[in-house]
Amino acid sequence: MTNSTLTKPKVGMYENVMKQFEKAADKLNLDPGVRKILATTNSEIVVNFPVKMDNGEIKTFTGYRVQHNNALGPYKGGLRFHPTVDIDAARALAIWMTWKTSLAGLPFGGGKGGIQLNPKEYSSTELERITRRFTYALGDNIGPDLDIPAPDVNTNAQIMAWISDTYASTKSPATRFNNLHVVTGKPMGSGGLAGRDRATGYGVVVTIALWAQKNNYDLKGKTFIVQGYGNVGYWTAHFLSQLGAKLIAAQDASATLYNKDGIDVEALQDHSIGYKDQIIGFEGASEIPSEDFFGLDCDIIVPAALGNQITAENAENIKAKLIAEGANGPTTTEGEDILLKRGVHVIPDILCNSGGVIGSYFEWLQNKRSEIWKQDEVLELINDKISIAYEAVHKMAEEYDTDMRNAAYLVALKRLEQTYKERGVFP
Ligand code: NAD
Repeated sequence: MTNSTLTKPKVGMYENVMKQFEKAADKLNLDPGVRKILATTNSEIVVNFPVKMDNGEIKTFTGYRVQHNNALGPYKGGLRFHPTVDIDAARALAIWMTWKTSLAGLPFGGGKGGIQLNPKEYSSTELERITRRFTYALGDNIGPDLDIPAPDVNTNAQIMAWISDTYASTKSPATRFNNLHVVTGKPMGSGGLAGRDRATGYGVVVTIALWAQKNNYDLKGKTFIVQGYGNVGYWTAHFLSQLGAKLIAAQDASATLYNKDGIDVEALQDHSIGYKDQIIGFEGASEIPSEDFFGLDCDIIVPAALGNQITAENAENIKAKLIAEGANGPTTTEGEDILLKRGVHVIPDILCNSGGVIGSYFEWLQNKRSEIWKQDEVLELINDKISIAYEAVHKMAEEYDTDMRNAAYLVALKRLEQTYKERGVFP
């Protein structure tokens, strides 16, 4: 069964992020000039480029890179290969990255992009040529001190290695080693960071554990469900089950699986790897209709796939106590209003999944310093940074008597406002 509710294109992610921004800007009484600047993207790059397919046919593709804001440092954010990639999605996701990097206290701004395609329709050699030609088309619009992409939906360490190699190969050979870190999330043999693969899921679980601590909530024996069983979904399930919680349902683009007695997280991952990254066909759970997923009886929901999944249409049916947003923009503002009224807690994306960009920051630093860091120290550093951000959000929520998402925005916007106040606007 293909998951039809999720394969339809997302609507209005940009509208969603702007509503969240306006709400926080009002609450903060944000400086009007800064408000105008942050409501606008700095640059929007759209490239059309040709690629030769394996059968010799030429196809053209459209790629996007939106650079929202770089007041705090180089633009930073993922590249997504998915049919729903368009200017609206790239814009919204770039804006979320600006808030996320600001909240995490990183010296980065926000960018996002990708190519509108379904990678499952292409061979590996075709994907390599598509990736390399996209990189070439972006040219000097990206760079290790200008705009540093990373993996996102359907892009992985291999794709990052192709981007890094293509970018560096189109520069003078003498500068090669100053250019390879144009992307993060690279494989270990190509300047990657130990632990970057699990950084996002690890960070999601750090925030869940902090939430549990603050709310006197014992995670042992609690049940959780995960939408998306890719990088973020799997690693979140891995770390959350280590804390004693039980995975009872998972949904990806291929199927929705349920087992009230628990799903073996590692066995499901092994199955997915051997099955073109799909969970369909796994024998340790039964398939259920996709529309039943969010209403399942469980304690924690981790959306870790696409945007706009928890909406006014399904928020009423949610039985979980906590939503931990592994994905970017999984909850619409209307959906969240219903959740909050019903007492469901939401750890917002810009905090919850920030382990990924924090890991990317350490990879970038490692590369700039020509060092090789150890996984344990990386995870500890991520833990420290997310914990600081979590505390700041918690305090802000109390100070302004507001929900966690709005509080996270307030922390992020205050830092940006401060920067603009100090620096002014050129000329
Ligand atoms: P991924 O490509 O590794 O996995 C995506 C998962 O979503 C897959 O299991 C896929 O089947 C599922 N999915 C895609 N379309 C679906 C559909 N129609 N129905 C149900 N499931 C569907 O991607 P990822 O890197 O794990 O990213 C997942 C989310 O997390 C995205 O929103 C991304 O922006 C966000 N995120 C990723 C990172 C990171 O470091 N990778 C960091 C922060 C946030």
